[in-house]
Amino acid sequence: MDRVSPLKRSQNMAQIKGRNTRPELVVRKALHSLGVGYRLHVRTLPGKPDIVMSGRRKVIEVRGCFWHRHPYCEFAYIPKSNQLFWKTKFRGNVRRDRKNLSALQNGGWDVLVIWECETNDISVLRYRLESFIRGKGRRSEKASREEYSKKA
Ligand SMILES: [Zn+2]
Repeated sequence: MDRVSPLKRSQNMAQIKGRNTRPELVVRKALHSLGVGYRLHVRTLPGKPDIVMSGRRKVIEVRGCFWHRHPYCEFAYIPKSNQLFWKTKFRGNVRRDRKNLSALQNGGWDVLVIWECETNDISVLRYRLESFIRGKGRRSEKASREEYSKKA
């Protein structure tokens, strides 16, 4: 018997996937202050990415250090009890993240991963967001224009 109500379950899932968490809200606020428009949790893209800037073909994933296993991060510890459970759970999350990331990249999206612990220093965060938004995309835009003119 499954006693968890659908609402409760979707709340649990939201916690695990980390929708609308504090780190995500911090990133959204920073983007907003940079005057950048975006869409949230786009269902049609692999892994329903948190923040999508379709015009720029850029995606920002905000990841919780614990659930998504930020490498070498103090928050990515393994609880002492039920270690097998946790390890299996974490392995699944990491595998899924990796799969979604490469699906997005193969689809031509620029992806920036921001870890929860990286949202504490707002000025560093803003700098990273700005260079991500201004960066690569222009080069690939230019590259695809050049490609196009070669064909023409
Ligand atoms: Zn971390």
